Amino acid sequence: MADVDGLVVGAGPTGLTLAGELLRFGLSVRVIDRAVTPPLDQSRALVIHARTLELFDQIGIADKAQALGTHVKVRTAALSTWSVWSC
Ligand SMILES: Cc1cc2nc3c(=O)[nH]c(=O)nc-3n(C[C@H](O)[C@H](O)[C@H](O)COP(=O)(O)OP(=O)(O)OC[C@H]3O[C@@H](n4cnc5c(N)ncnc54)[C@H](O)[C@@H]3O)c2cc1C
Repeated sequence: MADVDGLVVGAGPTGLTLAGELLRFGLSVRVIDRAVTPPLDQSRALVIHARTLELFDQIGIADKAQALGTHVKVRTAALSTWSVWSC
């Protein structure tokens, strides 16, 4: 018997964002993941990309996220198969 409204499979950014949105709309949710622990040997959250900010804007948290973060100006130039980054 279901005791929650929704089941989210995968506790990565996509799943956790979806779970947060379901909660925000008053639904109960359970999040499950096959991994016992998150990947602790590497960071996957160094920067927030523009597309993520666009999604943050849609759910109303872009201003707060930017206020809590550090703004880094980056220029990217693509040369053939190489990408050159300068800050
Ligand atoms: C080294 C590295 C650095 C990165 N740095 C950044 C960064 O600085 N900024 C940025 O925006 N992005 C970064 N990324 C990209 C970012 O990690 C991904 O875009 C993001 O994790 C995708 O989120 P997701 O929820 O779609 O998938 P995932 O993060 O892959 O999460 C999917 C989850 O679902 C679980 N899962 C999968 N299949 C099943 C199943 N059948 N049953 C149960 N659980 C399941 C997995 O265990 C996992 O926890 C980086 C990626 C890497 C590899």
